[in-house]
Amino acid sequence: MSTPYRVALTGGIGSGKSTIAEQFSSLGVPIIDSDFIAREIVKPGQPALDIIINVFGKEILTENGELDRLKLRETVFANEPARIKLEHILHPIIYEEIDKQSSEINFPYCLIVVPLLIETREWKRFNRILLVDTIEENQIKRASIRDGLPIETIENILKSQASRQERLKYVDDIIDNNVEIDKLGPIIQNLHQTYLDCSNNNINN
Ligand code: ADP
Repeated sequence: MSTPYRVALTGGIGSGKSTIAEQFSSLGVPIIDSDFIAREIVKPGQPALDIIINVFGKEILTENGELDRLKLRETVFANEPARIKLEHILHPIIYEEIDKQSSEINFPYCLIVVPLLIETREWKRFNRILLVDTIEENQIKRASIRDGLPIETIENILKSQASRQERLKYVDDIIDNNVEIDKLGPIIQNLHQTYLDCSNNNINN
């Protein structure tokens, strides 16, 4: 079995990554979710949690021994060396799992959802980058309704992420998600065909 063509799906908070991944999934495209992997690898008993405890101390755990994700996020939010340290622990494990999952796929291409692809400068790991582009006003509105969080919280997360202009420099394809969801079908169908063609060329080259 050959490795499938790897398309990274990225975009800021509330841009519509999960919504669009679902639509690709309904076409039969295998989806790998890096956020899900990031949560799985820090569960109790997983090696990444032991490394995090060694570096950040037991204070980073909840009373029942699970990783206190909020506390960890607060610890690294305004502390760049700590954030870099955490990334150095997690990213190799996340990408190892992404590689493992993609090697088990029996489909010409797969979609890998990587929210912070541009911020972490990991684009070279993929054959193609697809950006979900949504104006900030829509991102803030949609994410705050989805998560039941105040607008200011979403605005702060947005400020910590790459800007739309920055993202646009690195992407191959863009889905403009400022439209009604039911308008996305033909756009996704077109991209699906493009990725099938690309994967075919990839095998033949
Ligand atoms: P992400 O995964 O990028 O954080 P989601 O796909 O979860 O974003 O979308 C955020 C919220 O916005 C969800 O509640 C989703 O249903 C809604 N949403 C996504 N796309 C649209 C759209 N085109 N029109 C209206 N709501 C949308």
